[in-house]
Amino acid sequence: MGAVPYTRGLHEVGDGTYAYLSPPGTWGWSNCGLVVSGDRALLVDTQFDLPMTATLRAAIAAAVPQARVTTVVTTHANGDHCWGNQLFPDAEIIGSAAAAHGMADEVQPAQLAALSGPGSPDSPLGDYMRRHFGHFDFSGITVTPPARTFSGRLEVPVGDRTVELWEVGPAHTGGDVLVSVPDAGVLFAGDILFIGDHPIMWTGPVRNWIAACDRIIESGARHIVAGHGPVTDAAGVRLFRDYLVLVAEQAATAYAAGLPYWEAAATVKLPDVYAGWGRRERLVITMATAYRNLGAAPAELLEILAHTADAEAAK
Ligand SMILES: [Zn+2]
Repeated sequence: MGAVPYTRGLHEVGDGTYAYLSPPGTWGWSNCGLVVSGDRALLVDTQFDLPMTATLRAAIAAAVPQARVTTVVTTHANGDHCWGNQLFPDAEIIGSAAAAHGMADEVQPAQLAALSGPGSPDSPLGDYMRRHFGHFDFSGITVTPPARTFSGRLEVPVGDRTVELWEVGPAHTGGDVLVSVPDAGVLFAGDILFIGDHPIMWTGPVRNWIAACDRIIESGARHIVAGHGPVTDAAGVRLFRDYLVLVAEQAATAYAAGLPYWEAAATVKLPDVYAGWGRRERLVITMATAYRNLGAAPAELLEILAHTADAEAAK
């Protein structure tokens, strides 16, 4: 199979193996995956809100009417990958123990609605949140963590196929999981990969994230599905890995020099190959996390997000 078009909906990327793509892939527009065998299907991640997840469910029913989703894998705790879990009540939801734990500590749907809805603060942060999150519908969501958890590695049967789950966090978040489908040459990376935009490191350390990229490359998968953005290949993962190395080096230098994390983000220099990546202001979040990993006292989330909004406004 050749290049996969970056259009909304399900795309078959290997035998009985689909990517559900959500352009434009920025804040909240996350990809999912589907592995089908006979009358059974394993779904990788749900969507940010219930209407979007209902659309996903309808797309699955239209593409593979003979199959029902018996397993949902949650790659990590961010809401854009799991806040639709309740719409698959008959499926077993599987995730890392760290991700299950993290779902309770995340910003909750009502809090995100308050930060981005009509009554949200009249401030640069409120403006940022309204523009990037105001179009999602956070009503009716019951955060539904995995009922079955694991640490390390887990093989999950789907009909006569086997899907492998590899825990690689803490990296992007506390409990990141990669989903490998060896018989199709496909790997679903969750938010261990962002394609086309600057990633966000919520937890770190970055060395774990770099090691996770190496595992993806070593897997030999031909089609690699990012959590956000188009389907990529090993070359795309290498480019992303190199970005992490460059940012980590500059974080260490800036921290040693005593620069505040938001100024460190503003001074990051990257080769031209990254010039087209969107949402550069997310480097503020990644820098705050890198500083914490280097020993700095943790900053408040709302302070970090306010600096992120300022960095976007300053562009
Ligand atoms: Zn995401």
